[in-house]
Amino acid sequence: MRIDLHAHSAVSDGTQSPTAVMHEAANAGLDVVALSDHDTTAGWDEARSAAADAGVVLVPAIEVSTVWVGTDVHMLAYWPEASNDALQHMLASIRQGRRARVPRMLDRLAAHGVHLSEDDVRAAAGQAHALGRPHVADALVASAVVTSRAEAFDVWLGEGRPAHVAKPAPDLTTALDTVRAAGGVPVLAHPWGRGSRRALTEDALVALARAGLCGLEVDHVDHTDGDRAALRAIAARAGLVPTGGSDYHGAGKAGLALGACTTDEQAYTALRRLATRVES
Ligand code: AMP
Ligand code: ZN
Ligand code: FE
Ligand code: FE
Repeated sequence: MRIDLHAHSAVSDGTQSPTAVMHEAANAGLDVVALSDHDTTAGWDEARSAAADAGVVLVPAIEVSTVWVGTDVHMLAYWPEASNDALQHMLASIRQGRRARVPRMLDRLAAHGVHLSEDDVRAAAGQAHALGRPHVADALVASAVVTSRAEAFDVWLGEGRPAHVAKPAPDLTTALDTVRAAGGVPVLAHPWGRGSRRALTEDALVALARAGLCGLEVDHVDHTDGDRAALRAIAARAGLVPTGGSDYHGAGKAGLALGACTTDEQAYTALRRLATRVES
């Protein structure tokens, strides 16, 4: 079984429709694929019918934006109940924070002589329910300020760059409780990717496991072989399920195909068991 538990569509900052992502998953030889758009469940219904057509199993998921000791931490939530009010309320509030951040990023760009309008960003964002830096990056590409999302992050939008604005998000432990109360299975996305390595020490991960965290995304493009070995050992010690996913974004992140990182069948089975055990 080939299982990829991390993929994005144009409902957040991927570049293909949920339908296209499901067909791409089948073409990539996947049996199971999670649609884990940032901070929204809006792609699930479309993905569900496309998955049935394409002959893949859909894991409905969300990559929830959270903050933990001042650092952005992304939390994958598998099989949460989409109709849960507290969950949808939290997601709506994160999306509102994302929308409010856009004009602030545009102000910073303008201060550096780069002029984009909110309409430019909205046009670049298309059907996206969760607006983010990648859409500002796409607008910068459309205006020929840069030639790729990667360049937009390197020059303007990445941490420490001139147009970076922090994203308001709930505390990781609040998000953990909310996801669990909605029957979801929380797994930390790329725990040692980019900035979050400093904050997510072994002690912190053990404490989070006690607080209800179920797994760690060990196999991810942002992790070196050494990181993966260390995280796998921590997961074993903390009783966390080790997972893997491609973090597919279509054309939005060059060189990352669906199935580039995968979850083994045993880990997938363990997560599914947790989904049925978690109370809603
Ligand atoms: P935001 O959630 O709005 O802060 O934007 C962060 C998102 O941008 C991440 O979830 C990635 O999908 C994407 N991203 C981060 N760094 C890069 C990069 N260097 N190139 C392309 N996309 C990136
Ligand atoms: Zn993304
Ligand atoms: Fe992420
Ligand atoms: Fe992601």
